[in-house]
This record gives sequence, structure tokens and C-alpha cells, in this order.
Amino acid sequence: MKNILVIGGGFAGVWSAAGAVRTAREHGIPESELRVTVVSAGDDLVIRPRLYEADPEGMRVALDRVLGPIGVRRVAATVTGIDTEARQVTAIGRDSRPLSLEYDRLVLAAGSQVVRPGLPGAERLFDIDTMTAAAELDHHIRRLAQRPATEGRFTAVVIGAGFTGLEIATELTARIAESAPADRSGEARVVLVERADALGPELGEGPRPHIAGVVEGLGIEQRLGRTVERITEDAVTLSDGEVIPAATVIWTAGMSASPLTAAIPGTRDRIGRLEVDPYLRVVGAPEVYAAGDTAAAEAEPGHLVMQSCQHAVPLGKFAGYNVAADLLGLEQAPFTPNPYVTCLDLGPAGAVVTAGWERQVQMTGEDGKQLKQQINTDWIYPPVDDAETILKVADHRTPWPPEAVNA
Ligand SMILES: Cc1cc2nc3c(=O)[nH]c(=O)nc-3n(C[C@H](O)[C@H](O)[C@H](O)COP(=O)(O)OP(=O)(O)OC[C@H]3O[C@@H](n4cnc5c(N)ncnc54)[C@H](O)[C@@H]3O)c2cc1C
Repeated sequence: MKNILVIGGGFAGVWSAAGAVRTAREHGIPESELRVTVVSAGDDLVIRPRLYEADPEGMRVALDRVLGPIGVRRVAATVTGIDTEARQVTAIGRDSRPLSLEYDRLVLAAGSQVVRPGLPGAERLFDIDTMTAAAELDHHIRRLAQRPATEGRFTAVVIGAGFTGLEIATELTARIAESAPADRSGEARVVLVERADALGPELGEGPRPHIAGVVEGLGIEQRLGRTVERITEDAVTLSDGEVIPAATVIWTAGMSASPLTAAIPGTRDRIGRLEVDPYLRVVGAPEVYAAGDTAAAEAEPGHLVMQSCQHAVPLGKFAGYNVAADLLGLEQAPFTPNPYVTCLDLGPAGAVVTAGWERQVQMTGEDGKQLKQQINTDWIYPPVDDAETILKVADHRTPWPPEAVNA
């Protein structure tokens, strides 16, 4: 009996497990010879790309509805250590008891996390990185009207004007206004603070004029070239001394790969992702594969993958195929994702869709929004309950996202 252990029940982990099972079944290998186990802290696949939306607690899919039908064993536990010499993972189970899990091959798919700053008052910052954090923000916004009528009660300050900051800031223009009584909805104010001198510093020149027009059109105030110095219950102080009265301050700047990457021998990039070969095997740890936000894989010559669902899903399918192929003595498949696209939600102003690494604008407004809704409500969800469909979709040769944008 050979054991494949997958750490993480996110997009990359789920599709790694399904990809490995699919490969074993395709080659007539019974479960008694190759066992696939997912160890994940939670019981759900959290649909992280939707956590900027209202009602985030609904953005999940029960892992058992995807992994159960295809015979993947699931362990609900938090991994605390990885010993690549002993091929052993240590974890703490739900009942707080320590666990030890053995493997022949490991897939590390433990995702990423926002890097919160060490500023005075940082504990007052909201974020939308996890289901729990996004739900706290949602509940807070819904209760704003019950707070004392201070200046800044209906002001939200969003720190970081990258992908996540832009999506939550544009979305909040309506959510904050809706949380205020009708006669006070005019008090709703959203302020975007960005350290760089431009909006969307990592989005490049392509979509910036459109985004800048939208931000201005929605009345979102900008504080570019500035950072935050301190946060109190009622206000945020910026690096130039400006004090903005605000009951809601949201941190979106900076992501890093799961700290579990540090337990694997190998080279890590600036954001902690492990260097992998074209087959997603960690360079320096031959029995370990990395997928999703933990992997610094090459998407195309000269371009590493982005920490995105768009890459996490195919990374998972390829890692699942390759880890099973490795154990079964089959030829491995080099990672080849679909051409790079982005689709950025801009709240009431629709969405902007770009193609290529230069991010040429392909669609805006309502057309872009329709595509965003299709991605968010359909494409990123795995099929559930039906083994045949789940395993069909797990094929690494099936392009994903399913339809290429007009690149
Ligand atoms: C607000 C927001 C908006 C986004 N928008 C987009 C978008 O528009 N388009 C896009 O493509 N991407 C978007 N992303 C990025 C996308 O969500 C991530 O790239 C994707 O979720 C990565 O998948 P993953 O499987 O690598 O990690 P995750 O989805 O983070 O899953 C990691 C899994 O590992 C588990 N885990 C972590 N540590 C441990 C541990 N120690 N023990 C056990 N289990 C552990 C977690 O519980 C989880 O199940 C967005 C992300 C956020 C937060």
C-alpha cells in the first residue's frame, strides 16, 4: 500500500487529491494499493475569491461532498510539522490530540495568508483573508447603524490598492451605504490608501486608466504614496499625519505562502513559495510536490504563477497526476496552464477583464461583470456528490478556466 498525503483542503489540495485518484483509477490501481488522504484544518473548501462579497459565510463547499464520493480519506487536523527525512507529518486533531501521518509522497497545498502589520492598534484591523475574518467584517458592517453616531461611523478605509483592496473598496461603496439609515446613507465614505504612487501597482498600465476612472466615478477617495501609522477605535492615522475618522479599517496588503513551506528543504521565493521543477516536485525534496499558493511554478517562460485560483486549480490537477504517476512509474506531465487572464470585480461599476501578462483590457462594465459572476458562481466550484463528474473534471488535460477570454 502506497500513501499520498495532501496538506490543504483548498482549490489546490482538493484537485491534487482528485487528480491522483483519477490517475490511479485510469490505470486500474485499487484503493487498497494507493491511498489518498487530505489533511485540512477545516471541513470546507472555502471559496476565498468571493470573500469580498456580502454574506461570506455561504462561500464554501463541504469537503466530504467532493472527496467522499471518490474515496479520498479526510483528516480534520492542523498540521504543525513536516519531517521529510522520516516522511512524516505531525498535526493536532480536532480533539486536541497529536497525530502523526506517514506518507510515500506529499503534496503541500496549504495556501497563503495575508501578512498583517505590527502597527499600534493593528488588532483593530479587519481583513478578508479567511472565512472567519470576512464574516467578522460583514457582521461589523451590518451593525454600523447601532454604533454611537461618531464622525467616521460610515467610513471604511481600505489599505492596499491591489487586487483584493480594489475589489473590497469598490464593493463597499454600496455595502456601507446600505448599512446606514436612509437619511444618513450620504455619510458613506470609502478611502483607499496605497503605499505606491499608483492604483493597482502590480496590475500594470493596461487596466489602470479604467480602474482609476471607476474609483473616481464611485467617489472612492485615494491616498496614494502613503501608509498607515496607527489605528484606534475611531480613526486611522496616515504616514503624512492625516487622521481619518473611520469605524472600519481593512488591511489587504501583502501575502505570503503558508509557513509550512519553511519545513521543506528547498529554495523559497520572496513570498515564501517553494521552487518546483516543471512537474511541481520541490527542488531539493524529491518526495514532496507543491501546488497552489505554496508553489513558485513557472506558468510560461519568464513568468511564475500568480497566487490565484486560476493557477491553483490546474496546479492541483497537475500535482495530483504527477504524484500518482511518480508512484506508479508513469511518465509525468509538465505543468502547462491556460493563457493568463485576470477578472477584477469593480462593484457597481462592473468588472475589468484583461488578457496576457501585460494585462490588455478585453472587457469592462456589464460584460466583464457577467464573466466575473460566471467565474464566481460556477467555474470555481467543484462538482459535488457524483464521482464520475468529479474525476472527469480532475483530468489535468482539461483546460481550466473552461473558456479562454478573447486573448
Ligand atoms: C479576498 C480574496 C480574493 C481573491 N480573488 C481572486 C480572484 O479574483 N481570482 C483568483 O484567481 N484568485 C483570487 N484569490 C486568490 C485565491 O483565493 C487563492 O490563490 C487560492 O485560494 C489558492 O488556493 P490554495 O489551494 O493554494 O490555498 P487555499 O485556498 O488558501 O487553501 C489552503 C488550504 O490549506 C489548509 N491549511 C492551511 N494551513 C494548514 C495547516 N497548518 N494544517 C492543515 N490545513 C491547513 C486551509 O485550511 C485550506 O483548506 C483571492 C483571494 C482572496 C483572499
